[in-house]
Amino acid sequence: MSILAQVISDVKKRDPHEPEFHQAVEEVFESLEPVAKLHPEWVDAGIFNRIVEPERQIIFRVPWVDDKGKVQVNRGMRVQFNSAIGPYKGGLRFHPSVYPGIIKFLGFEQIFKNSLTGLPMGGGKGGSDFDPKGKSDGEVMRFCQSFMLELARHIGADTDVPAGDIGVGKREIGYLFGMYKKIKNEFTGVLTGKGLPYGGSLVRTQATGYGLCYFMEEAMNTLKNKSFKDSTVVVSGSGNVAIYAAEKASQLGGKVVAMSDSKGCIYDSEGIDLETIKIIKEVEKKRIQEYLKYRPKAVYTEGSSEIWNIKCDIALPCATQNELDENAAKTLVKNGCFAVGEGANMPCNPKAVHLFLKKGLVFAPGKASNAGGVATSGLEMSQNSMRYSWTFEEVDSKLKEIMKEIFRNTNETAKKYGFENNLVAGANIAGFVKVASAMYSQGL
Ligand code: NDP
Repeated sequence: MSILAQVISDVKKRDPHEPEFHQAVEEVFESLEPVAKLHPEWVDAGIFNRIVEPERQIIFRVPWVDDKGKVQVNRGMRVQFNSAIGPYKGGLRFHPSVYPGIIKFLGFEQIFKNSLTGLPMGGGKGGSDFDPKGKSDGEVMRFCQSFMLELARHIGADTDVPAGDIGVGKREIGYLFGMYKKIKNEFTGVLTGKGLPYGGSLVRTQATGYGLCYFMEEAMNTLKNKSFKDSTVVVSGSGNVAIYAAEKASQLGGKVVAMSDSKGCIYDSEGIDLETIKIIKEVEKKRIQEYLKYRPKAVYTEGSSEIWNIKCDIALPCATQNELDENAAKTLVKNGCFAVGEGANMPCNPKAVHLFLKKGLVFAPGKASNAGGVATSGLEMSQNSMRYSWTFEEVDSKLKEIMKEIFRNTNETAKKYGFENNLVAGANIAGFVKVASAMYSQGL
């Protein structure tokens, strides 16, 4: 058995009930065989065995009181995966599906994504099985305060800097930051995604979606001589990533015809009216089906995966993990789709990814194409340390340069290791090599 196969087998044996984490490890290790051959010293130093084991995992009780005065208990966690190239950095997810396997898959991906940004950030992730949906602001605040009461012991501007993810937006970050400040009596950049009046960065809200489109524009131009201009685009999800991916795709000349939420999808042949989506999702926090009230000619279909049946040139899955399977991939290919860019983390399952690569689509893996969010979080940390803030244009132009550089690095690395046009392999290898070399230098 090769060393990489042995590590994968050990991971499955050690934590058999974490399929998402196994999937993430297999997906990265699939590309690393040539790296292991080129660097026997990394094999001897156990780098491959060490990188799949988090440096630290913290699991804690989060008790809070609901509006009826009843005590509720959730589980909180933070996985501090790798600090070889900088403080742990990665979001917090509040969703009922959260358990260590999800947080470990996200934390593992985060190591390589953060490495690709070129900024000094290690990898981490955290969250809770708490569901903010349907809770009052008071309940969310009390939950966040209780969550931070424990988390504050483990994080810090130079140790671990959490941010948002599914279910954690500006409101939650505000409550978490307020509590951290009370506990520590210090105002530092301990969280990113903060509001603008208290240390947030311009462009952070838009960063993941905009960054995805900057990456795709560069990739489509270089690999296929194509672009968003005059292309039909489908964007799954209607949260933070999806909304701003749709916005930038339209600004670059694409026509976004469909979006979705966890219940269903809408198709608008005239192009989705994003201002309406923002009202429904960001202000009213309602179902996407409400779109029909504003645009009666649009069509709503029950079932979120129905979105992949809609004909498009470019597909941007921006909702959640494993939302696009092999059948969906076949339909997209049959309908003439030429590019797929992952805005979410691991939205395409392994069979879908293999099909896209086999059929020669431009396929951008999330760890490269959605790195704009964490890159801008890195820029937020820099601004906090300098006690300074850059303008929207300054941050946006840095983001654009970072995304272009991630594409260039990913594409060049793929070529160098014999995986021409395979951005999955390029991103895995480029992200891994930097972290592995830092780990090797630092000893055990
Ligand atoms: P949000 O909570 O803002 O939005 C998530 C969206 O996805 C919601 O519209 C939700 O619908 C929808 N959704 C959830 N499950 C499904 C499903 N099965 N099918 C279709 N839609 C679904 O999260 P974000 O936009 O922040 O995150 C989306 C993805 O992007 C996640 O994978 C996240 O890890 C990743 N990501 C986020 C970054 C960021 O900066 N925010 C950075 C990098 C990656 P509903 O409203 O019905 O729940």
